[in-house]
Amino acid sequence: MAKIKVGDEVIVLSGKDKGKRGKVIERIPAEGKVVVEGVNIVTRHIRPTRRGQESGIVKKEAPLFQSKVMLICPRCGKKTRVGMRILKTGEKLRYCKKCKEVVD
Ligand SMILES: [Zn+2]
Repeated sequence: MAKIKVGDEVIVLSGKDKGKRGKVIERIPAEGKVVVEGVNIVTRHIRPTRRGQESGIVKKEAPLFQSKVMLICPRCGKKTRVGMRILKTGEKLRYCKKCKEVVD
């Protein structure tokens, strides 16, 4: 089960965006990467491929390794590692290793 999910707020641990916070907007499990809003922005030059399409510069978030980000606990507001709790029903819950509160 994924420790980081879409909609989570995370903080970047390394690289040029170190210390930046943002919301996870996409996960790419096959590559172990996530896309975080406002983080790891790359500039792309778009050439019109069809007539009438506009060309220009587009700024877009590029995926970064999930290991480079850490969850910000919605309960205590600290960056934290995520633990897993398995209920008797087999349901898995994520919890914050700092405050031990269930995240979801
Ligand atoms: Zn917490």
